[in-house]
Amino acid sequence: MSEKRVVVVGAAGRMGRALVRCLRERAVPGLTLAGAVDLWDVPERGQDAGLVAGAGACGVAIESDLAEVAGGADVVIDFSGPHGTAGNAPRCAEWGVALVTGTTGLSPEESAAVEAAADKIPIVKAPNMSLGITLLLDLVEQCAARLAARGYDIEIVERHHRRKKDAPSGTALALGEAVARGAGLDLDAVAAHGRHGVVKEDRPADQVGFHAVRAGDFVGDHTVLFAAEGESLELSHRATSRDTFAIGALRAAAWVCGRVPGLYTMRDVLGLNQGKE
Ligand code: NAD
Repeated sequence: MSEKRVVVVGAAGRMGRALVRCLRERAVPGLTLAGAVDLWDVPERGQDAGLVAGAGACGVAIESDLAEVAGGADVVIDFSGPHGTAGNAPRCAEWGVALVTGTTGLSPEESAAVEAAADKIPIVKAPNMSLGITLLLDLVEQCAARLAARGYDIEIVERHHRRKKDAPSGTALALGEAVARGAGLDLDAVAAHGRHGVVKEDRPADQVGFHAVRAGDFVGDHTVLFAAEGESLELSHRATSRDTFAIGALRAAAWVCGRVPGLYTMRDVLGLNQGKE
């Protein structure tokens, strides 16, 4: 089978570098780096993407216009930012190029732009590309289904590095959605983001608390806490390397090429939806 040609958007960023390095190391076989894109004003523009990633020269320079490098690509992997991803999804749809994106912090309008593009191309969109978090989402839904009605309080605590832009993390929100599905709640109605000041009432029983820590170089820690009088249960995931997300995104890229148009998740990529339809 021929190699799939991959374009990485956000190539000078933390995830972009991890993606380029994992591609160069052939962490997932069958994929070749065909193009690399970042903003026009980053110092890495024009430099060899492999060298920027610390993986040795690969002959692919970081360009500033996706249109320049997307010709002939099979799949674009976009870990840029909400504005970049929302702008690139319709362009990929126009060109008929599959898309994998892990960008978080999209507004409802930006998410809608990605979803609309999925009418024309296959897109894998996931706030967390790791196997561990994909499984954790199921576990959290199961625990919430069993514990929320029995009076357990549910709180989500996440820790990320000091440069992370969005809070709470996309993964924390996905965990909150899993809680809401399991407990039969409307997340928007019950979410409480941080706490401050003095309240008169006790904590509402069906509240779902979110707490975002930003410090140092944490790659991504998430804990869902279920607590009642007499016991507590914590389900935690800790990412110690961005490679875990990069390899997940590369698996998604290998999987998504040639699929029918639609919006897919890591559950689809990892085969966890089989037998559920
Ligand atoms: P980063 O800031 O280190 O890198 C982003 C890169 O994208 C930068 O080099 C920036 O210049 C570039 N960029 C921004 N807008 C662009 C545009 N319009 N066109 C081209 N390039 C553009 O950030 P990061 O830590 O690599 O994270 C990137 C995104 O991925 C964030 O939304 C983050 O939350 C998300 N993320 C997702 C996962 C996952 O598993 N889904 C894992 C880690 C990070």
